[in-house]
Amino acid sequence: MNYLLTSVDEEYKKRPRYISILRITIQILSFFLINYIIIELIFQIDMDLFEGLIKILPILNSPRNPISKGAGFLEFIIYMIGQAEFPFLIIGILILISLLFSRIFCGFICPIGSIQDFLSIFRSKKKKQFSRNTHKFLIHIKLVILLIIIIAIMSLGIAKMINPIFYIEYKSNLGTFADKPLGYFSLSEYLFVFFPEIIQDIINSGEIQILFSDFLTFFIFFFYIIILILAVYYPRVYCRYLCPYAALSSLFSEYSFLKLKRNPVKCAGRKECRICERVCPMQIRILDEKFEGFTGGGECILCLRCIEKCPYNALKIKFG
Ligand code: SF4
Ligand code: SF4
Repeated sequence: MNYLLTSVDEEYKKRPRYISILRITIQILSFFLINYIIIELIFQIDMDLFEGLIKILPILNSPRNPISKGAGFLEFIIYMIGQAEFPFLIIGILILISLLFSRIFCGFICPIGSIQDFLSIFRSKKKKQFSRNTHKFLIHIKLVILLIIIIAIMSLGIAKMINPIFYIEYKSNLGTFADKPLGYFSLSEYLFVFFPEIIQDIINSGEIQILFSDFLTFFIFFFYIIILILAVYYPRVYCRYLCPYAALSSLFSEYSFLKLKRNPVKCAGRKECRICERVCPMQIRILDEKFEGFTGGGECILCLRCIEKCPYNALKIKFG
């Protein structure tokens, strides 16, 4: 048995890496396109010309957009609900994208996913996995976060419609949460807005005490540093357990037309192989999924690592 596993392991290491190369290329391009301010800084050019284009493409939400500096598309939707405006069109687009393309955005485009993939390179040989029960439990955290955000912001929208005086009071009680509902829950907002701003403040004032000025600042600062360290050991830990976009998208992606399928005749099975499950950054139990077509309960981000690494070519993409 050990001999079998060793030879399969060697086989999988020799597999061509065309999918990875394509994916990394797309991730790098997307990273700079979405955060085009970085291009402006590096090349000292003004990309204002593209501002209009970047604003109309939801996933390329402009980093200069005051409504949604870091968290983008989903923050915009939730913010509008808090303003008592239901953005049917954008929500419709989100559902359609999830049904047609599942979570390919997470696997190929999202800069936060790319950063976590990059971090996981540092521990490529010794990836850890949570126990099955712990994973099943943790996976619900992002849904709870999303639910809390939606309930709080929907109440704000309803208050605005029916009781303007209560709305003003409620909004002021919610504080920054009312204007930036995803702010504290978004690693994107942390990395591209919160962290640079706080470092800038520390440099300008020369006072590290800014970090300890209030509990929330202190907590957020170190909480996401811990998440980034965890991402070195547990690939995509933020996507799996905390990301509000992942929570929403997984609800629809579960029913996506785009799936994976496994050929049980070619597959060597869990005892002899299990390589697909070992390389899956989302810790999906691929061999327990329906072989005719699966999305891992909406958790599969279509990174295609399992397809690339399967020594027997047992996994394929399926549409429909
Ligand atoms: S699908 Fe491929 S990688 Fe996964 S157990 Fe079967 S043969 Fe191995
Ligand atoms: S099941 Fe395959 S494609 Fe989906 S996340 Fe896991 S490795 Fe990536």
